[in-house]
Amino acid sequence: MIGYVLSGIAVLFLSVILLRAAFFRPKACPAVEAEHISFNKEASIEALQELVRCKTVSYNNKALEDDAEFEKLIRLLPTLYPRVFDICSLRQLPDRALLLRWPGKSDAAPSVMMAHYDVVPVEAEKWEKPPFAGVIEDGVLWGRGTLDTKVTFNGILSAANHLIGKGFVPENDIYFAFSGGEEVNGMGAVNIVNYFETHEIRPALVVDEGGAVVENVFPGVKKPCGLIGIGEKGMMNVCYSVQSGGGHASAPPVKTPITTLFEACRRVIKHPFPMHITKPAKEMFNTLARHSTFLYKVIFANMWCFKPVLDLICRMSGGEMNALVRTTTAFTMMEGSSARNVIPAEAKLISNMRLNPADTVSSAAAHLRRAVKNDDVKITVLESFEPSPISNTDCAAWDKVTAAVSETWPGCIVAPYLMVQCSDSRHYRDLSDRVYRFSAMDLTAEERKTIHGNNERIRLDCALRAVEFYIRLMGKC
Ligand SMILES: [Zn+2]
Repeated sequence: MIGYVLSGIAVLFLSVILLRAAFFRPKACPAVEAEHISFNKEASIEALQELVRCKTVSYNNKALEDDAEFEKLIRLLPTLYPRVFDICSLRQLPDRALLLRWPGKSDAAPSVMMAHYDVVPVEAEKWEKPPFAGVIEDGVLWGRGTLDTKVTFNGILSAANHLIGKGFVPENDIYFAFSGGEEVNGMGAVNIVNYFETHEIRPALVVDEGGAVVENVFPGVKKPCGLIGIGEKGMMNVCYSVQSGGGHASAPPVKTPITTLFEACRRVIKHPFPMHITKPAKEMFNTLARHSTFLYKVIFANMWCFKPVLDLICRMSGGEMNALVRTTTAFTMMEGSSARNVIPAEAKLISNMRLNPADTVSSAAAHLRRAVKNDDVKITVLESFEPSPISNTDCAAWDKVTAAVSETWPGCIVAPYLMVQCSDSRHYRDLSDRVYRFSAMDLTAEERKTIHGNNERIRLDCALRAVEFYIRLMGKC
């Protein structure tokens, strides 16, 4: 009898799981009918080439920066985008911030298009083509910043130049907000946000760098996915330090600062932060898993019972999937004594943490102290900022961005996601709940690796789609 009841329960359980997976289908979305857009492609590629030729490299040590190159880029803008400068006023704020306002029919619901025009340094000898020459070969433009983010800087201004030329006036004001120090956490974006605050400008839509149109980001999904960040993780650097009386290494005590830190490190790794699937990850899984293979549909349609399985897979695999669902810890620096035969008077470890929106700087620090469980290890939070608020996906602003993505990349699956890196848009946290992080490009995994690396380059057709995306988006603002 008990056998029948148990097998009945098992059959019922299996049927529920399989039925839920079978009905876990892609959500119906209306067919996209996008009008064809023609604009001056040569001019916008030439403009991007000119931007790349400005060596706007930012450094933590300001003395290394070449002010003349930043000024050269700013001086070039009215020549590259003349119609923008006929209509929009340029305001230069401290820390190389540039703010332009394109007056719309109303100032009630302004949009903000963000990009940064500074770039990270290069190791030129490791490049196949010179990084600041603007070389075009076989339909590819080479250069530092082509992807990060001169392409969207150019996309925004080329799109506005085109629309203004056609006599288009946006329904609402559009601001172009550019920083020249994003790569070194400069204050440019903060100064722009402060300007908005003092002038009581409340953006109804903010678009900054972030996700892109990418492939192979979710197991079993073959189609390209347009990922739009609706939140970004927080960040904190943590120092673990241990002190001792030092001494000669020939007669060591049982414990030294190094062995204590080794144990602390092991304990932090053994106690990962709990999995917490926040709204961006949940919505991403709920969109993409519906396009995946049956196995993944079984898992993601039945999270009520497969959460521990997902947790295990993420913990074992690490990487991007794991970073989406929990706070991560990466040990990055260590420091001991200055001689091989001296026990250090103090040893230090540093970890870089990326905070899931479910955590805060203080809750994460408390987790680390509980994990280490040793008062000899002093745990200090160095730089930190909290995770961003999560943006709205049930509003006109979200619909405008997703429509512009679908129209520019027909057939791609548009999904929200959690950005695991940081962008300047985090400074808008108190100003708008409609902040979307999307770099308007279709990128291969190989191309993504060149960002901040060697041989950064962009396909010209990809750079032109960035312009097209902004023409479509601004047309709806
Ligand atoms: Zn960057």
